[in-house]
Amino acid sequence: MSSIVKCPTCQKDVVWQPESEYRPFCSKRCQMIDLGEWASENNRIAQSPQVSEISEADLDKMEAFLTQQDNDFFKN
Ligand SMILES: [Zn+2]
Repeated sequence: MSSIVKCPTCQKDVVWQPESEYRPFCSKRCQMIDLGEWASENNRIAQSPQVSEISEADLDKMEAFLTQQDNDFFKN
């Protein structure tokens, strides 16, 4: 037994089952349209490979770099 729902974006019938990955939407496209621009911004950040691959050493380097930037800033 499976239910049928209507895609909130395009009103297409969507079978409510595990295979319908984007339910209640018929497709990823419709899901993205519904979530709107702010959500796609967030997704871009979440999918950015750099965020999860920053190591301790990189953080130290970054901190040293930012500290240097601050020093230059305050000198001017
Ligand atoms: Zn749709």
